[in-house]
Amino acid sequence: MEKKRVYLFGNGQAEGSAGMKNLLGGKGANLAEMNLIGVPVPPGFTITTDVCTEYNKLGREEVIKLLQADVESAIIHVESLMNCKFGDKDNPLLVSVRSGARVSMPGMMDTVLNLGLNDEAVEGIARKSGNERFAWDSYRRFVQMYGDVVLGMKPQSKQDIDPFEEILEDVKKSKGVTLDTDLTVADLKILVKRFKTAVKYRTGKDFPDCPWQQLWGAVCAVFDSWMNERAITYRQMYQIPEEWGTAVNVQAMVFGNMGNTSATGVAFTRDAATGEDVFNGEYLINAQGEDVVAGIRTPQQITIEGSRRWARLQGVPEQVRAAKYPSLEETMPEAAGELFAVETKLENYFKDMQDLEFTIQEGKLWLLQTRNGKRTGAAMVKIAMDMLREGMIDEKTVLERVEPNKLDELLHPVFDASALKKAKKVAKGLPASPGAATGRVVFFADEAEMWAEARQKVILVRIETSPEDLKGMNVAQGILTARGGMTSHAAVVARGMGKCCVSGAGEIQVDYKAKTVIMGGQTFKEGDWISLNGSTGDVFDGDIKTVDPELSGDFAAIMELAEKYTVMSVRTNADTPKDAEVARKFGAKGIGLCRTEHMFFEGERIKAMREMILSKTQIGRKVALQKLLPMQRTDFEGIFRAMDGFGVTIRLLDPPLHEFVPHQLATQKELAEEMGLTLDEVKLACDSLEEFNPMLGHRGCRLGNTYPEITEMQARAIIEAALNVKAEGIDVHPEIMVPLVGIDAELQMQTSIIKRTAEKVFEERGIRIDYKIGTMIEVPRATVTADKIAQHAEFFSFGTNDLTQMTFGFSRDDAGKFLKVYKEIGIIKVDPFEVLDQEGVGALIKIAVAKGRSVKPELKLGICGEHGGEPSSVKFCHSVGMNYVSCSPFRVPIARVAAAQAAIEQAK
Ligand code: PEP
Ligand code: MG
Repeated sequence: MEKKRVYLFGNGQAEGSAGMKNLLGGKGANLAEMNLIGVPVPPGFTITTDVCTEYNKLGREEVIKLLQADVESAIIHVESLMNCKFGDKDNPLLVSVRSGARVSMPGMMDTVLNLGLNDEAVEGIARKSGNERFAWDSYRRFVQMYGDVVLGMKPQSKQDIDPFEEILEDVKKSKGVTLDTDLTVADLKILVKRFKTAVKYRTGKDFPDCPWQQLWGAVCAVFDSWMNERAITYRQMYQIPEEWGTAVNVQAMVFGNMGNTSATGVAFTRDAATGEDVFNGEYLINAQGEDVVAGIRTPQQITIEGSRRWARLQGVPEQVRAAKYPSLEETMPEAAGELFAVETKLENYFKDMQDLEFTIQEGKLWLLQTRNGKRTGAAMVKIAMDMLREGMIDEKTVLERVEPNKLDELLHPVFDASALKKAKKVAKGLPASPGAATGRVVFFADEAEMWAEARQKVILVRIETSPEDLKGMNVAQGILTARGGMTSHAAVVARGMGKCCVSGAGEIQVDYKAKTVIMGGQTFKEGDWISLNGSTGDVFDGDIKTVDPELSGDFAAIMELAEKYTVMSVRTNADTPKDAEVARKFGAKGIGLCRTEHMFFEGERIKAMREMILSKTQIGRKVALQKLLPMQRTDFEGIFRAMDGFGVTIRLLDPPLHEFVPHQLATQKELAEEMGLTLDEVKLACDSLEEFNPMLGHRGCRLGNTYPEITEMQARAIIEAALNVKAEGIDVHPEIMVPLVGIDAELQMQTSIIKRTAEKVFEERGIRIDYKIGTMIEVPRATVTADKIAQHAEFFSFGTNDLTQMTFGFSRDDAGKFLKVYKEIGIIKVDPFEVLDQEGVGALIKIAVAKGRSVKPELKLGICGEHGGEPSSVKFCHSVGMNYVSCSPFRVPIARVAAAQAAIEQAK
């Protein structure tokens, strides 16, 4: 049978359904489903995501041939339901053409509205509707949108405004009006003409009059937009595969710009910023969809309650609000009532917070889209827990609803209350996305990137944002816009990213050319510090101090649920008692990696360490190690105390030695004096430690095997600390870990040194303690000889940083230079140092697991590379049967949820 490429919907019937998101995209699948559950949706059809893939392979002409017959009959289907005809001059059908991938990518791809208009059809629409202004307004919008999306009429430089906006502003100015809605029919006719002339001038071609030519142009433009730069950036940011493609939804137009009984808007069934269960949204009378999100007119609130809150925040008096910015509940009570019923129905049906788009045409409500709404981390947690309490979803669904990485937002600092009191407020906007952000003012996305690369914190300040600003928004601490409401591009995208955002700060004056913004009578230049409070909409002068947030309530409840369903435990990588305490607060059950070399970098310690390294004799090294012993012991005691009763894996020394030697003359001189050596001797010793490839040099167990006294000192410090803390009545479980083993004899030798030392300490103290010895598995040879290595180990911990480095042969320190390009040209999809390469590195891990457990079925297995806190890698670890993952303290909550999700997924 010929593959089905086009799915119809309309009039309460649909060929697709909500379960078909992969094929129909999120929008197409839900449009179908809304039909099936009796929500009013304009009829139309969806061209599948598969066709997008065909389009990218076969090209435009071939795909049009493949689609032609199906699209023609789909148009006939819409015509029959709408009682009009595509291309007819008296009774024309107009359609919208929209993108729709599996997951929503707000604003990243293209849309064309009012398609099917030309010089004849516009007259037909005018006659049919009896509303000439509406017909011409739709026409000028169509030429503008089609020109932009399909014909590439974009601004030519970042300071330029949109070529059509320029003409629009010019016409408005010459007519002495400020609002689009004040333009007369004659003005709109002039606009259409000037728009078309601009198209001809820029592209050399006439604007297409034939509706079919328009339709194919728009369909192909939507497919093309899957590969545009901002969509590619968005996919990379959210790891969305290129193969998914976008669907194309073609739908009969309904009009929000038919006069004062028509409107258009967007709404959320709960608050996307805070998660509160309040229906909220924005609308505009006599407007079309793009007006609401474009931030050109000030959108009004849907509910009275929301409208009053908005007025309070904006400092608008009630009388002015009611007269100039009334809510939908006030202006169109009947349609608003219908909308309230539909939002409840949709949320109850999809059992998640919905983000809706609607149009009211002459009093009749139509839904154009429903999707699970993007939300902040805080809203994600609150909505999931509220829905559990409301009996809408069960515990497992709560966990599945949590995007692990978004929990990170909840761990971000908030403004210090006393610092905030003293801060000078310079502007106020809408609280579009919560959080506290401080940074230096920048005005352009590319400049935000440049500042960020130079490790500067920035706040991106824009009149309004567009999808082109995505990269800049991503690197900024926060976003401030002069225009746009709570559903503007900036607000929606910032919430999706969990970035602090203040939008619609109307009184700020941004000057892109001068690179200044005037706020509260003060001029801020590029590079000046400001602070944003995304929860209140306040903007402050300067850099305000922040503090760590409280983690309780719903966050804690989610963590408890994770605990209930997880199979693996989550440990932390911590080198100091302070880190260990933070991680305990986040629920870490032990330490999976304590990198002892990090304890040697400070003050007196580095001196003793240098003495040890530069000693030519074993005696000299032992003297220096003797100085290090008490320092190490104290650190270990602190960590054992913080981890009260949980296992603590301490890794023996693992850095290349040259990292410790002094490179500056002054420090070399100081060291020479302290050690009674000449400067030349110190210099020579430093030079002799230089390695061509230190990552593969004299590090890890190679140090401990060539200088056994280091291992002796560290084993002693660990065992003595454990005994001391045990004597305080605290339960201790030391686990000594040997790094960089590739040959079983390497581990065997280290094991015997550790055991010998431990026995000595036990004898001296007259008391024993249980401890374990294990190894990192981070050298490829270790994975394939894991059965031999396991004979000397009680646990394995996969060091996937080094294992990735050595499996790919990509230097950890230098790979950044080419991995970025590799990603851009498609050789790799993600950075393997961030996301575990399951195909290659994962295959080696599987071999090591199988071989290790073949000789020791109970062998404890974990991971302590960076991947231990990355959700997809955590899930992999669960699937191969690891006992635990270990990650940095701030990733512990993320790993806990990912581990629980892995267990739930596997049980299905
Ligand atoms: C590893 O290699 O994955 C690891 C955890 O050790 P380090 O990063 O200290 O080399
Ligand atoms: Mg390593």
